[in-house]
Amino acid sequence: NQGLGSWPARRARMTPDRVALTCRGRDHTYRELRERTYRLASALGVGRGDRVAYLGPNHPALVETFFAAGLRGAVFVPLNTRLTTPELRFILEDADASVLVLGEGRDGEGLPGRHIGAAEYEDLLASGSPDAIDEPVGQDDVCLIMYTSGTTGRPKGAMLTHANLIWNTVNLLVDVPLAHDEVTLISAPLFHIAALAQTLIPTVLKGGRAVLEPSFDVERTFDLIEAERVTVMFGVPSMFSFLAQSPRWAKADLSSLRHLLCGGAPVPLPLIRTYQERGLTFLQGYGMTETAPGALFLGAEHSVDKAGTAGVPCFFSDVRLVTPEGVDAAPGEPGEVYVQGPNVMPGYWRRPEESAKVLSADGWFRSGDVGVADEDGYVRISDRLNDVIISGGENIYPAEVENALYSHPAVAECAVIGVADDRWGEVGKALVVLRPGATAEAEEVLKHLDGRLARFKIPKYLQFVPELPKNAAGKLLKSPLRKLYGS
Ligand code: ATP
Ligand code: MG
Repeated sequence: NQGLGSWPARRARMTPDRVALTCRGRDHTYRELRERTYRLASALGVGRGDRVAYLGPNHPALVETFFAAGLRGAVFVPLNTRLTTPELRFILEDADASVLVLGEGRDGEGLPGRHIGAAEYEDLLASGSPDAIDEPVGQDDVCLIMYTSGTTGRPKGAMLTHANLIWNTVNLLVDVPLAHDEVTLISAPLFHIAALAQTLIPTVLKGGRAVLEPSFDVERTFDLIEAERVTVMFGVPSMFSFLAQSPRWAKADLSSLRHLLCGGAPVPLPLIRTYQERGLTFLQGYGMTETAPGALFLGAEHSVDKAGTAGVPCFFSDVRLVTPEGVDAAPGEPGEVYVQGPNVMPGYWRRPEESAKVLSADGWFRSGDVGVADEDGYVRISDRLNDVIISGGENIYPAEVENALYSHPAVAECAVIGVADDRWGEVGKALVVLRPGATAEAEEVLKHLDGRLARFKIPKYLQFVPELPKNAAGKLLKSPLRKLYGS
């Protein structure tokens, strides 16, 4: 078995007594992890290519199900715990999952397929055999189907092979010198690619210890950093910002931390500085589910002078920025981010047409994001292509307009969307959340953009709104905004 399913056994061969997982104060060694994944794999009743779904927060059972499925050559399908029953049903039917493993507190009511409830889980393991299993799994076999978070539409299952995940790990290790004794705090959900591929998988490869938390909590994070002497953490920028705003920030013992991995959105410069004052530097990255996920990486040495960018392509991956005319964008010019490399998915599960739309014959994946490179090749991710407004044949990049709006002192948050217009096709509409206590007139805020932006980029409309919708990862959701305010 050349796939990830064999990793607990490979690791147990070298370091059986080291702790692999810590959850709620209980430690599980690599020897235990190996035995438990063998037991589960033998009792699970699935074969090669079958889909094994898991619904629950971070927990050792999720990790065991991932490796046990891999041992059988089956495909792991982690489900987002925040989805509603109809949304989960859609994914389970789309994936055609033969079994659904349920974490604590989930009853699986209304969900299709055979269920393994949390109460039966230990009995099932006890009924399985601890003997080694060796299926001829290859690295090009599919290991994982991960449904993209659905920020831009109906969820699609990105298929990731063992090789995709291995190469992503190599890309990460080229720049992040993870050691054998790493203690990785995993409080971002393992059903998203970043926590799974940027923290759990590399930690197991190195024989480190993963501390699993069911959710992110500021107090708990400080407690665990201090008590477990955490060395590695992954988070989205808002998580790191919550920590820095806490009253505990000033006196917390952060001396064990070595690597702070951050992705999903750029880390604002003030936050970089706040962490720097504590001797901590961010390692930032840009990526997506379809690229397992790393595509761009910004190392510690450039975290300040290249702040706001997501860095340069990972070692084994290539990135191009392509203009609407289909040529490479010059520095300073926006283009769609294309990614190529051994980490790029073979396609979406059972969606040949949608796969063909994003994957070219020569292996470039179209991300749907807009990026701009500087003279040194550092790429700033600015917008989603779907959010670009086309007004009288001119492209308006909302992020540029939003940045200009942010220079107005009364603007706390803003988003610019396109609305239909008889004359121009589309025009910009700004949605603005004012700072607490601030007042402003729409006209005056728009006037502030005069001279800062070309006339065609200045929104035609501006509306004050109480808040902007965001998803759990802190990403601004433009499609509900368009539904709410798009007319
Ligand atoms: P869907 O594809 O279903 O609409 P999604 O794209 O939000 O959902 P993910 O694969 O989880 O799902 O997220 C990847 C996206 O997150 C990227 O395409 C990009 O838009 C954004 N992103 C990731 N890292 C960064 C970063 N460092 N800076 C800016 N944006 C980022
Ligand atoms: Mg996406």
